[in-house]
Amino acid sequence: MMRELDALFERQARNWPQFAAGLAGLARARTRRVRIDWFEVFIRHIPHRMASTTAAVDRESVARRPCFLCARNLPPEEEGLPFGDDFTIYCNPFPIVDRHLTIVHSEHRPQRIANQFARMLDLAAALTGYFVIYNGPQCGASAPDHMHFQAGSRVLFPIEKDSLNLDGITIPRYARNVFVFRGRDRSALVNRMEGALDLLVEMTCKGPEPMVNIAAFYAGGEWTVYLFPRAKHRPQVFHTGELTVSPASIDLCGILVVPLAHDFEKITAEAVAAIFREVTWPQEQFNQAAQKLEEAP
Ligand SMILES: [Zn+2]
Repeated sequence: MMRELDALFERQARNWPQFAAGLAGLARARTRRVRIDWFEVFIRHIPHRMASTTAAVDRESVARRPCFLCARNLPPEEEGLPFGDDFTIYCNPFPIVDRHLTIVHSEHRPQRIANQFARMLDLAAALTGYFVIYNGPQCGASAPDHMHFQAGSRVLFPIEKDSLNLDGITIPRYARNVFVFRGRDRSALVNRMEGALDLLVEMTCKGPEPMVNIAAFYAGGEWTVYLFPRAKHRPQVFHTGELTVSPASIDLCGILVVPLAHDFEKITAEAVAAIFREVTWPQEQFNQAAQKLEEAP
């Protein structure tokens, strides 16, 4: 699997000009760290992310455009690697991190995590050295109409280091509120994640699924899953035009994407912390959920 994936990257870099341009863009990306409290966030300036950061994902806009994840609409140079009979792995032509992948369901069906947790864990286990992410249809997925995951290299994956020596289900004083689930038993972990999702639905009464971003990786026989419950899609500074940022899973895991150079220069640690606080669940609601999840069998 990993050898085939390496070969796919090599071939696509050679044969697919748009992907080669994406790799060149990532190679030019500037990154700087800001320290917030006890942890750091990596701010990454990537101009080629502008379209994703500002994408219109409302129902009408999505219905008007051809689906860019359906196999029949892909550029002729784009090649995939099957994962089971339900997903195909592609190289992402607008990479944020090294080895950025898009993992697309074979059917054009809405972005929903229900009944897909097990597949997400399978992907994490198969992709050695990678993280796998899911962005909810209303909080980060630029194709809310077509089920997909993304993945990327864990060479830079700040949240992994930040949560290394914690055994609780939360990361205290982390600006963004996040649940952490670990386990070696696949079906037990799937049950816990489904239970958590049910609880979030119950607490928000929002359908078709609560706003969440999820990241997972597998190392040493154990999965680690980060579940970010979202309060809103985009922060106020996006709407006022102060900062063009629209956080999704990768941002919340500690790599904040800024497509504009002047945002990259001016964004402060305080601004990043405020954005993280604003887009994830407020403290009191989060604490209530954490208490229930800790008590859950
Ligand atoms: Zn589609």
